[in-house]
Amino acid sequence: MNSKIWLSSPHLGPGEFNFVKEAFDTNWIAPLGPHVDGFESDLAKFTGSAHAAALSSGTAALHLALIMLGVEAGDEVICQSFTFSASANPIVYQGATPVFIDSEEQTWNMDPALLEQAIIDRIAKGKKPKAIIPVHLYGMPAQMGRIMEIANKYDIPVIEDAAEALGSTINGKAAGTFGLMGILSFNGNKIITTSGGGALISNDENYIRQAHFLATQARDAAPHYQHSSIGYNYRLSNVSAGIGRGQMQVLKERIEQRRAVYEFYKEQLSDIPAIEFLSESTGSFSNRWLTAVLVHPNLSNGVTRETLRASLQNDNIESRPLWKPMHLQPVFESYPAYINGVSEKLFNDGLCLPSGSNLTREDLKRVVDNIRSNF
Ligand SMILES: *Cc1c(COP(=O)(O)O)cnc(C)c1O
Repeated sequence: MNSKIWLSSPHLGPGEFNFVKEAFDTNWIAPLGPHVDGFESDLAKFTGSAHAAALSSGTAALHLALIMLGVEAGDEVICQSFTFSASANPIVYQGATPVFIDSEEQTWNMDPALLEQAIIDRIAKGKKPKAIIPVHLYGMPAQMGRIMEIANKYDIPVIEDAAEALGSTINGKAAGTFGLMGILSFNGNKIITTSGGGALISNDENYIRQAHFLATQARDAAPHYQHSSIGYNYRLSNVSAGIGRGQMQVLKERIEQRRAVYEFYKEQLSDIPAIEFLSESTGSFSNRWLTAVLVHPNLSNGVTRETLRASLQNDNIESRPLWKPMHLQPVFESYPAYINGVSEKLFNDGLCLPSGSNLTREDLKRVVDNIRSNF
């Protein structure tokens, strides 16, 4: 059996261990400390956001953002349908209703035309959505220019789910910094990892201050434990933040490596007419977290996404269908959805290829040879 090739595995650099050792040596083994502060300032600097709060996960960051926007039971929140469930779960934690929006074909993210149609329809039905959650899937920036125009027109705050898009930009401006708040994830499979963790970024210091407060059990300023609001245990540990600081030193390199993976696949496979790659539009820069392709069965003599996935699996190579849209998930299918068929088609025909920054040329060649053998 050939060795396993993973879809996206953690890739640590030389610096992480030194930061973690420093946390041990100085006994800063707590959900606060110098590495947490340092990681937050690294994140703010890298994204160009004025402020950042390091948290226990991207999901926690999104949950706090919704809480701070006053999302409560009975409210509606607009969310991209084509995404990981973590984009929608926190809406339901608050007892609110997710309203799902389908994708456009250019970036695979939230379709601005459907977004506006949904807002008009929800307002006509008597409820103005409390927030909009677009997602920058696989690192490809959503059409934030148009999305922000619509959000501003109807005065609805935007929380960008940039969990997969650290390092992605539109005209040089970081994904996650267009809306009122943005969220990042440092889960094990993301472009950089803290083993598990996330962050909230915002130019408005008040949101970051309040996120810190809520994430540490909403403890009021008093010598005893005093609470006037419900709190959460959502902060990142100083040990994890140490890993994050090390990862920040190699982030630029990781982005270059992921982009090189995409370029390699594209160069090696673009002569196969059935395989389509997702391109960047003018001004947009993707971190290429995962290389995703569409397999068009009508151009392939019957080879499908599933043919390729099974063929890769036979050679111990992990690949994965694209995200199954939320409006097709059993747990979310009863919620309102504004659908054009794009995300369902992406789910049916799309495949994520191994994209880790630690893959070797030999690994990538093995993936390419396996795919080519099916055509
Ligand atoms: C990973 C991810 C999240 C959640 O991040 P966690 O840190 O795992 O909680 C949210 N949205 C998207 C699109 C993601 O890929």
